[in-house]
Amino acid sequence: MDKFEEKMGEIAKEGLSEDKVNKRFLDDWGDDCICPDCPMYNQCAQEKYEGLYCLLGKSECNLEEDDCICPDCDVFGELDLKYDLFCIKGSEKELRGI
Ligand code: SF4
Ligand code: SF4
Repeated sequence: MDKFEEKMGEIAKEGLSEDKVNKRFLDDWGDDCICPDCPMYNQCAQEKYEGLYCLLGKSECNLEEDDCICPDCDVFGELDLKYDLFCIKGSEKELRGI
């Protein structure tokens, strides 16, 4: 089990609602997300205060594919993420199929 599975397992045990889980994600990792510095992050994403796509899932905006900078983000290393382009492909959890 890697860090991502361990952390998600810990949070799941708390039995929180989806909204509370998402709030927890934002509280714990929101400030470390560097999506706003990514070439793909556009005005729509900015206006919706989007980010943390690796945990919250896809963007509601129409983002044009470019180089994803997730591997440079602290959250990426802290959680042993394996994927990228979460804003268009979905969350790490969805991509791992767990
Ligand atoms: S890994 Fe990517 S989506 Fe996740 S917090 Fe970092 S920059 Fe944002
Ligand atoms: S998930 Fe990756 S590609 Fe998407 S905005 Fe964040 S850094 Fe850029």
